[in-house]
Amino acid sequence: MLIAGNWKMYKTGEEAVALAGQLLDGLPEAREPLVAVFPPATALSAVAERLRGGRKEIVVGAQNIHFEKEGAFTGEISAEMVRSAGAHAVILGHSERRHVFGESDEVVGRKVARALEAGLFPILCVGEKLEERESGSTSAVVARQLEEGIRGVSSAADLARIVLAYEPVWAIGTGKTATPAQGQEVHQLLRSKLRAAFQQRGGRPESADDTLILYGGSVKPENAAELLAESDIDGLLVGGASLKADSFLKICRAGA
Ligand code: PEP
Repeated sequence: MLIAGNWKMYKTGEEAVALAGQLLDGLPEAREPLVAVFPPATALSAVAERLRGGRKEIVVGAQNIHFEKEGAFTGEISAEMVRSAGAHAVILGHSERRHVFGESDEVVGRKVARALEAGLFPILCVGEKLEERESGSTSAVVARQLEEGIRGVSSAADLARIVLAYEPVWAIGTGKTATPAQGQEVHQLLRSKLRAAFQQRGGRPESADDTLILYGGSVKPENAAELLAESDIDGLLVGGASLKADSFLKICRAGA
């Protein structure tokens, strides 16, 4: 069970460190759930430092990387850079990157491959827009995003290092949450596609049962437990409600 907080473009360094400290104080020492936070790049080092050696292990991750190792890409940040700042994971294919910054499936796929090569755990996000849901193409959209997202992943061992997140675009930051049944339906589909993907890479289809598939989209303390009760929902990716210690801690407790 993984509960992840995407802090997006919120929190200065000081604010991020303060929030990290509140989470350390508030989380039970128990191993479950695994908790991860994704501060803005400018706060990565400071948050990683604040969390180092704490009584509860909290994974620190980045919100984005570039698909090249290095180069003349003004304003971009590489996988190695976020790693050396203390990140162990990275969110890729988030709907804001896809739909606000125009990242294609191909770009997302290149980033996933780069993250793995650099030793980061990618959280690969997929999700349909409202019009896609309404036209009945949800399954086709998420299946395509998954397939293209893992196209450059050649081994089953690398595939096993990917976390998936289903985030319906119409539910992100809108207050509209997918019902647990809607979430479960898509998660089940993703897991079946993953089974085939493991097999295509010479792995065992059952490895897909160990892949964490998170749900994201207006998760709140009030709906966390019912989403987590679904058999294929292995955790949550939380945006807005992860910005305050109180609400994020309540969500983490729902996963305990
Ligand atoms: C997100 O940014 O990944 C997200 C799910 O946001 P929110 O929880 O605010 O909908």
